[in-house]
Amino acid sequence: MKNIKDYNLNELKEEFIKLGEKPFRAEQVFKWIYEQKEINFDNMTNLSLELREKLKNNFTMCIFKIIKKQEASDGTKKYLFDTLDGNAIETVLMKYHHGYSICVSSQIGCKMGCKFCASTGIKFIRSLTSGEIVEQLLAVEREENIKISNIVFMGIGEPLDNYDNVVNAIKIINNPKGLNIGARHISISTSGIVPKIYDLANENIQCTLSISLHATTDEKRSSMMPINDVYNIEQLLQACKDYIKITNKRISFEYALAKDNNDNIEDAKKLVSLLKGMICHVNLIPINKIENGKYIKSDNENIIKFRDYLNEHGIVATIRRELGSDIDAACGQLRRKNLNNY
Ligand code: SAH
Repeated sequence: MKNIKDYNLNELKEEFIKLGEKPFRAEQVFKWIYEQKEINFDNMTNLSLELREKLKNNFTMCIFKIIKKQEASDGTKKYLFDTLDGNAIETVLMKYHHGYSICVSSQIGCKMGCKFCASTGIKFIRSLTSGEIVEQLLAVEREENIKISNIVFMGIGEPLDNYDNVVNAIKIINNPKGLNIGARHISISTSGIVPKIYDLANENIQCTLSISLHATTDEKRSSMMPINDVYNIEQLLQACKDYIKITNKRISFEYALAKDNNDNIEDAKKLVSLLKGMICHVNLIPINKIENGKYIKSDNENIIKFRDYLNEHGIVATIRRELGSDIDAACGQLRRKNLNNY
């Protein structure tokens, strides 16, 4: 059966027309699901009993079950969801002073093979559907009885390797008649799939693009991220410049600092010269050491020195707070080890 959450509002209207129903009925159902957070067709009381039956016969609601929930000392929560086909995904909820932010997964496993990331070594199983991406948000809102205001595609998976479903999920999340989260509150992070950056630029959605840069020379970046052998730094930064030109939006660069690897002042200098003139922001991430990983976190004073150098040379840089590290929920720590425990 079809998952009703896989459809954006226009597509759902078309589905309803195929079922012999008026398009405004689709809008009513959309509001039940995303505004009212209803999980049962039977409770959609402004629809006829006949239509409710029809919906039950044609669509599933895709309601995730929580397999495991962990809470960190800073209040960050990590959920392991059952995707209803024997697989599981991780989602993280963070509380900031401006509201709740959710970090969603876009795939079950990842193909990118970044050497410092805990998703590496996990077998890639499949991409998530749009409905499964959206359901992560709904399931957390239901569980916590909250309204989420920010969403980042920084969980497991490469969002631009699941382009269509991610873009469609954003259309659902963004719709004022749906979850109504403004595109400015939605970020996509990519390891740098260049052609998809161009596609995204032409999509006319105002979400924020984050680029996982992490190094300033091809040699170093390739040693950390195999994708660099396909699209090198020059091609990636050209795509970023074009993205800025097309969308008029600032790009965010992620740079995970690993001791004695990419964290000295020479790297900072090179970063300044690479990013000079671009409307951008650099997010410095103290690298999280993964099991058997060779990269270890830079010293705090070095991270601060690196940030200060960038800021003094015209590049806006901030250090990302490490939320949820005691439950393996910090950036890049999500992995399937939990799966073995249930
Ligand atoms: N595939 C996407 C999103 C994945 S993770 C991407 O590559 O951007 C989100 C961010 O966490 C990325 O910038 C990723 O490079 C970073 N990351 C992964 N592992 C990390 C680790 N061990 N420590 C710090 N950051 C990490």
